[in-house]
Amino acid sequence: MPKKIFVTCALPYINADPHLGHVFEFIQADCFVRFNKLIGNEVYFTAGTDENSLKNILASHEHKVSVKDWIDQKTASFLKLKDDFEISFDDFIRTTEERHHLGAQKLWSHLDKNDIIKKNYEGLYCVGCETFYTEDELVNGLCPEHKKVPEKITEENYFFVLKNYKNFLIKKIESGEWNIMPESRKNEILSFLKGDLLDISVTRSKKRSEGLGIEIPEDKEQVLWVWIDALSNYINVLNYGLSDQTLFEKWWNHSDEIWHFLGKGILRFHAAFWPAFLQSAKIRIPTHLFCHGYITVNGEKMSKSLGNSADPRELLKKYPLDSIRYYLMKDIPSGDDGDFSEINLISRHNNELCASWGNLVSRVLALGEQYQQPIKLVANELKPEIDESIENYIECFSKVRTNDVVSVCFDLIAKINKYVSDQKPWSLINTSKTDFERIISSSLYGIIYANLLLSAIMPKSSKKIFDRLDVQIASLKDIPLLANQEFTLKKPENLFNRI
Ligand SMILES: [Zn+2]
Repeated sequence: MPKKIFVTCALPYINADPHLGHVFEFIQADCFVRFNKLIGNEVYFTAGTDENSLKNILASHEHKVSVKDWIDQKTASFLKLKDDFEISFDDFIRTTEERHHLGAQKLWSHLDKNDIIKKNYEGLYCVGCETFYTEDELVNGLCPEHKKVPEKITEENYFFVLKNYKNFLIKKIESGEWNIMPESRKNEILSFLKGDLLDISVTRSKKRSEGLGIEIPEDKEQVLWVWIDALSNYINVLNYGLSDQTLFEKWWNHSDEIWHFLGKGILRFHAAFWPAFLQSAKIRIPTHLFCHGYITVNGEKMSKSLGNSADPRELLKKYPLDSIRYYLMKDIPSGDDGDFSEINLISRHNNELCASWGNLVSRVLALGEQYQQPIKLVANELKPEIDESIENYIECFSKVRTNDVVSVCFDLIAKINKYVSDQKPWSLINTSKTDFERIISSSLYGIIYANLLLSAIMPKSSKKIFDRLDVQIASLKDIPLLANQEFTLKKPENLFNRI
């Protein structure tokens, strides 16, 4: 039975242009979405920008532009990633949009009143994280994420009593109904939940938010705290706050799975706070969360001072899109920190994309061209290898083990390459038509399957190969429809050129 799956990326702050970490998350989620489509599932995929954040205000001051101009410009540069990196978003929400404000206010008004208290509070606030920290949580007096001294802030705010949901969340996570991946992050969030849970500040003073932020109806001095605001995007993008509930009903209430992709720095907000807010408002909680790590560049933390190496737009000027997507999914551990190295990108491009995959496609199609007669897709001597690869591919992808996914595809390519080398079809081209056609048909089956599996990672080159073969298929179940079809093969121009 095909499944209905809703997939989201986290909303980045827009205090700077996108860096490689953002692109990594978009590509990782996009590959997962494309995978699901090719096994026949129906998917809705969204992202957006978090515009109501203090960080954005500070950045606009620093660059001496109006807050509005700042957020418009930065959002445009995030949205451009969709086309530049072929990210298949169905929708993109900005938290300054009306549908977002209405949804956030609706969520606020539906929170169980027993979970909300108003109190005076003095705390240590990190603007970078937009959250309060306790002394214990700081590392040498610094925010663990930003390595900065948090500000001491005294305010009267509304608080959400998180501990009301302690047992609920632990039970959901331990049972796997709220599936936190990878295992290391699941353990991290469980140990957080099993500790003392402080009340969470869910509003902040309007003064401090400089006009940004979403007002709460009962108190004009307060706006929603940025996290309850930002997190609600996941339902607001489905028009939760509007009168037409079609999207929300389909993709939130009645989907089979709801997946959030995010980075490890915001795990707590997504894995604990968000489902607690939803449960409080009697809204279904999501089903899956996948947390990736951080990317360093040549062993160092990414920063502006490192220059262009971490700028995804600069990378695109130097390397083909598919090589970047391929390299990131192959080399950066899917659920852990990883190091980006241009040398490794080039070597993967040359040794794997050109020498292995590109070479296989070229030599099989060139043999077919040399043969000067169409090849009928009948024999498939690689069927056992293909079936095994598909099984492993689905197994790895459903756990977002993207590094293993790529390996599975390239194991299959290696097997097809070996088959061609062992069978030596070039020696049979004039002597045994039947054998030649059997071998090319089998190799062609292998290429079509491998190309479809790779289309989740490398949509652009995959399309190029299918165009060359005049094949229009989008899912695995379509491949058997190609049986007995005749293919007039022609060598493609170089799919991947050596760098
Ligand atoms: Zn911080």
